Amino acid sequence: MKVVGVLALQGAVREHLAMLQTLPNVEARAVKTREEIEAVDGLILPGGESTAMGKIMKYFSLTDFIRDKIQAGLPVWGTCAGLILLAKEIVEQETTYFATMDVVVKRNAYGSQLDSFVTKCVIPQVAEHELPLVFIRAPYIVKAGEEVQVLASYQDKIIAAQQGKMLATAFHPELTEDNAFHKYFVSLID
Ligand code: GLN
Repeated sequence: MKVVGVLALQGAVREHLAMLQTLPNVEARAVKTREEIEAVDGLILPGGESTAMGKIMKYFSLTDFIRDKIQAGLPVWGTCAGLILLAKEIVEQETTYFATMDVVVKRNAYGSQLDSFVTKCVIPQVAEHELPLVFIRAPYIVKAGEEVQVLASYQDKIIAAQQGKMLATAFHPELTEDNAFHKYFVSLID
């Protein structure tokens, strides 16, 4: 059994938990304390608002703790705001969070809430079929370092990437009916 935690400070936590529950041999848990995070085999950083999550993590002294876990090899997947938490650099913003993934991200890169959109694309590493992609005030990756593998691009912008056991998507697979991305993340957990 693989235990997958969803960081439950703010954002789309329930949707990730529901998606994980469709997978065999996976126990899904909402986690927010050090003890709870310590007990998981993989961690999902959900979408929401990166600034809010960053403040809450700071308040509970979780930032360094989680960063250390990621650096020690804990598989982690950031969706949307979660990608921003992982990024080494954020365009026009001084504050970074875990800064473990060698990518530069641009927040709200597609415009306002009204510019949220849905599209489809095949991401060969993840699944053979087309996956629905939901973007909500999404970021994209402006630049990725040499160690980063680009999994998908949309209109010439990187929207999914992986660096070792760190996975990042600008979109929200947990808001679709397709669990392929969750399956893929679980496959990264030994
Ligand atoms: N715009 C949000 C941020 O900058 C991310 C949006 C999302 O996670 N859906 O943190």
